[in-house]
Formats: sequence, C-alpha cells, structure tokens
Amino acid sequence: TQAPVNVTVTGAAGQIGYALLFRIASGQLLGQDKPVRLRLLEIPQAVKAAEGTALELEDGAFPLLAGIDIFDDPKQAFEGANIALLVGARPRTKGMERGDLLEANGGIFKPQGEAINAGAADDIKVLVVGNPANTNALIAKAHAPDVPAERFTAMTRLDHNRAIAQLAKKLGVSVSDIKKMTIWGNHSATQYPDIFNAEVKGQNAAEAVNDREWLENEFIPRVAKRGAEIIEARGASSAASAANAAIDHIYNWVNGTPEGDWVSMGVPSDGSYGVPEGLISSFPVVCKNGSYEIVQGLEINEFSRARIDASVAELVEERDAVTKLGLV
Ligand code: NDP
Repeated sequence: TQAPVNVTVTGAAGQIGYALLFRIASGQLLGQDKPVRLRLLEIPQAVKAAEGTALELEDGAFPLLAGIDIFDDPKQAFEGANIALLVGARPRTKGMERGDLLEANGGIFKPQGEAINAGAADDIKVLVVGNPANTNALIAKAHAPDVPAERFTAMTRLDHNRAIAQLAKKLGVSVSDIKKMTIWGNHSATQYPDIFNAEVKGQNAAEAVNDREWLENEFIPRVAKRGAEIIEARGASSAASAANAAIDHIYNWVNGTPEGDWVSMGVPSDGSYGVPEGLISSFPVVCKNGSYEIVQGLEINEFSRARIDASVAELVEERDAVTKLGLV
C-alpha cells in the first residue's frame, strides 16, 4: 500500500471542520486508494474540542485513516504537509472595520505561510477557505517564498457549485447537464458567476436561458448572497456545503477535471483576462497531473467585463490594504 498523504486542516474544531474531516477520512478528498494522515491545527482554547472530533473519527474505523495528530503550533501542524486546508479564520464581527478584519487575519495567515514555507512537503497544495479567502491566501503566499506561488489557492468552488445548481433549476435540467461554469474575481458579494461561457447539454447557457432580467436580478445576486440566505434559514452559516466544495476543489486539483469541462479556483493571476499579476482571483481552470492551468481564449462580453473589473478592483483594494499593514 501507498504511504499516507499528510493533510493539515486548520480550524479543525469549527463547523466546516466537523463536516470536512469525516469526508477526508472516508477517502473522498483524494480517492479511495489513498490513505491519509490528519494533522489538525486549532487555537489553544479549541484543542479540546478538536480532540473530541478526533475521538469520533476514531469511532468511524475508517480504513484509509492512518492517524490523527492535533497541534496548537502551526510549525508542527504543517510539518510534512502534502495538502493544507486553511479553514480557521477570524470572522467579521459587528462593528469591525475591514482594516481590523484584515489585520486579525494577517496574524493567522502570516505565521501559517511561514510554517508552510519551513516545513511542508515539496508537493504541498494549499486551499484557503477562511474568509476573506483570496486575501488570506495572498498573505500566506507572501510568507512562503520557497513554495511555488501557484500552490496557494482560495476557494470559489462553493460559488461555482451554487451557480450550477441555480442554473440547472432554472432550466429544469440535471446539474450534470451543465458544463463550463465560471466564477470570476473575489469570493465575496462582488463575485461574478458567468453563464455566457457555460454550456447546457452542449448549448450555450446564456442563449438557453435567454432571460436578462433573471440573469441580472435573480441569478447573479442569488449566487453571490447565498451565504446570507443560508444563515437566514438555518440560523448558522453554511458548513457542509462549504466542506463539500473544499473536497471538490482538492479532488479535482489532485485527480484532474473531466474532459470537456472546467472548474473555478481562486489562483494567483498570471495576467490572464486583464487581472493584475499576483492577485489571487477566481478563474476557470482545468486540472491535469496534479497541476492546473487557467483556461485561455474565452470571450468576455461587455456585461461580463464590467463585473469582472468590479470584483478585481475589490481584490486590488484588499491587497493595497494588507500591503499598507505590512502583511504582504
Ligand atoms: P466555520 O467552520 O463555520 O468557518 C470557518 C471559515 O470558513 C470562516 O472564516 C468562514 O468565513 C469561512 N467560509 C468560507 N466559505 C464559507 C461558506 N461558504 N460558508 C461558511 N463559511 C465559509 O467557523 P467556526 O467559527 O465554526 O470555526 C472556526 C474554527 O477555526 C474555530 O474552531 C476556531 O477556533 C478556529 N480557528 C483556528 C485558527 C488556527 O488554526 N490557527 C485560527 C482562527 C480560528 P465567514 O466567517 O465569512 O463565514
């Protein structure tokens, strides 16, 4: 059998962590032939709760789970990590200014970037889930100069999955009939779900919908504000669907995307589609042999251009703010 893959998960005692860890242990993150060793990171006050989750994981008797270690020190947690899921973050609380939020997260993602740089395995792949995910990924990347920049990614897969589900519902088709969905920009309310390049049973999705009013006033805001809709209904933020998207993101990155389709990932821009180089922005990507490439040559109409530009402008502002704070 193969050597276990080391998977480090931060914020392991949180609600996304609770939904995520069991799926990792059951083999859904990497594949049914790959044993995993979990390395959980928590803040000292939450270590006990993480230990409780570890007891439950043990009780799952998962054949692919080779071990669980729990840490409150990032240096130890990222030692030998092949995959890092950065879920724990400082949420925005009432009355908190954006600058305070970015600063608090700098205090988390800077040391984690340093720890990844110092001790992670050479093939480390990083997914940032904790918000503001794109900018948190930018901070971690800035403190890991020895790790190839493209290994730092941010999650927009939940937005991608939400967009597919809403489009399928509108057209009365199955989600598997929809291909080539794209989320552009920031994982925030400015994100842009693009159906102009998507396909439904091989037909252009925007043409199949042919309803500009729905696109502008229902689809785009619904996808962008779905998180708030969930909180309203559930009384708590989305957790299982976020964990599911994190699983999808890493699974495709490691095992590839299906032929004739692509997925959305927040990745360091190479300047494609006019997005400033180095910003971590969501793009359509295809994955193959453990790496990804931004899909090139898509047509961006005027409607899409304005929305992509607005979301990218927000990312530039966030980058400028963390630059001022000395975090990147
Ligand atoms: P959750 O597990 O619900 O969420 C964790 C993070 O994921 C939040 O930043 C949240 O952002 C983000 N997120 C991204 N996408 C989504 C989505 N679609 N839906 C919901 N959340 C999303 O938070 P909990 O408070 O339950 O748990 C956080 C845990 O992290 C705690 O146990 C805490 O102790 C730990 N922590 C660990 C750190 C570390 O390991 N160093 C550092 C900081 C915290 P948003 O808030 O915007 O929803």
